[in-house]
Amino acid sequence: MYADRINSLPPYLFATIDRARQDAIKKGVDVINLSIGDPDMPTPSHIVEAMRKSLGNPARHRYPSYEGMLSFRDAAAKWYKKTMNIDLDPENEVLTLIGSKEGIAHIPLAFLNPGDVSLVPNPGYPVYNIGSILADGKPFKMPLLEENDFLPDLDAIPSDVAKKAKIMFLNYPNNPTSATATAKFFEEVVDFANEYEVLVIHDNAYSEMTYDGYKAPSFLNTSGAKEVGIEMHSLSKTYNMTGWRLGFAVGNRDILAGLGKVKTNVDSGAFEAVQEAGIAALSGPQDCVHEMNRVYKERRDALITGLNELGLDVKPPRATFYVWARVKGKSLDFTKMLLEKAGIVATPGVGFGEYGEGYIRFALTQSVERINEVVKRMHKLEIE
Ligand SMILES: *Cc1c(COP(=O)(O)O)cnc(C)c1O
Repeated sequence: MYADRINSLPPYLFATIDRARQDAIKKGVDVINLSIGDPDMPTPSHIVEAMRKSLGNPARHRYPSYEGMLSFRDAAAKWYKKTMNIDLDPENEVLTLIGSKEGIAHIPLAFLNPGDVSLVPNPGYPVYNIGSILADGKPFKMPLLEENDFLPDLDAIPSDVAKKAKIMFLNYPNNPTSATATAKFFEEVVDFANEYEVLVIHDNAYSEMTYDGYKAPSFLNTSGAKEVGIEMHSLSKTYNMTGWRLGFAVGNRDILAGLGKVKTNVDSGAFEAVQEAGIAALSGPQDCVHEMNRVYKERRDALITGLNELGLDVKPPRATFYVWARVKGKSLDFTKMLLEKAGIVATPGVGFGEYGEGYIRFALTQSVERINEVVKRMHKLEIE
């Protein structure tokens, strides 16, 4: 019944984990869920208010423009100038997305012919791989190894693969490893992209979720980057807006035009009332972002301290709300044990690809009290 491209999708491990979690809840277990990358705090009220106001305006009820409201793209361009010091033309260098996942899933359709290679980080956000498969492309895994600070080794990509590659996905600050990229690495990426004529899609969903004074760079800060790439941004994590579905892509206008062409034919853009809420988020006060980072940092420190006391060697991440911890044995066995014996849900690293095996991911989306409870329960397990 299903097309080959559907049958060839990898099994969705997260659905299996979620079923196990629900079974445990049914049995009356007090489950603590640290498995989802979905902020637990509400959308800041000035953003909600902007949407409420916009809803009353009938002009917002109609089909939105395909590329997004110019006022939203203008707010995104100004936000990029303010946060990244990058100049963008809101008319041609900014495209509104219905969440960045939408843009990531659609971009292979614009650039891959059947059999063309897309370079995808592994472990990684699953949509890079799946979007490539849905476009009949051939994803090639770039291992993110701890010994390389979870950056792909571009020299390890065989040249025949590189020659067939049309796009490369990157994501720093990184989900799931929480690694960050150096300016030097981004320079190497631009060189690689020029040598092999590869388009670079940098997913910067966590650029604002940083700690200890760290400032995450934009890929577009790299010299030559705008000639070869685009950057995706999401309002989901930065402004607790996962449910609203709003993001944007910026950078190379020809790449954006290709993505825009797919979108024009597939969707009809983001609800304009949501875009007006997005304008409030991007151009309004940013204290909410700092406050959320303060909260995540407190949670991070509680979990890291606890895990270190347990003998797990994990360092505090300086970005994202993930803690990527190496464990003994298979990651799926470890997470099953955590759920069965302690009612803790974490994500097995293998769910992000085979190079995630041997790690588990905790998301800092529970209160400090619950995180302390996680540590307490893990102490009783005698994990070494
Ligand atoms: C959460 C996440 C996204 C999806 O963001 P949306 O804008 O909600 O679609 C994209 N990339 C990464 C790495 C993420 O973790």
